[in-house]
Amino acid sequence: MREYKKEETKALERIICNGCGKVIAVKHGMPMEGVLQVRKAWEYMSGKDGQVDSFDLCEECYDRMTEQFCIPPTTTEAVELV
Ligand SMILES: [Zn+2]
Repeated sequence: MREYKKEETKALERIICNGCGKVIAVKHGMPMEGVLQVRKAWEYMSGKDGQVDSFDLCEECYDRMTEQFCIPPTTTEAVELV
């Protein structure tokens, strides 16, 4: 869940983890710790056609979620574009 400042600015003020309710501070539009942002627009073939779901998870909740996977997430090293 993301909370934004007043309508005029639309600046991201803080992020609240949907998993545990932890508040993640934001400075200059950047989260001050790791956060997973999910936005899913469900398509026609799903049972949720036309529905858009979004949530944020802190790193601890992300780890807890992925530990339940049968197959762990694929991990690669990010390549910085200069
Ligand atoms: Zn959390």
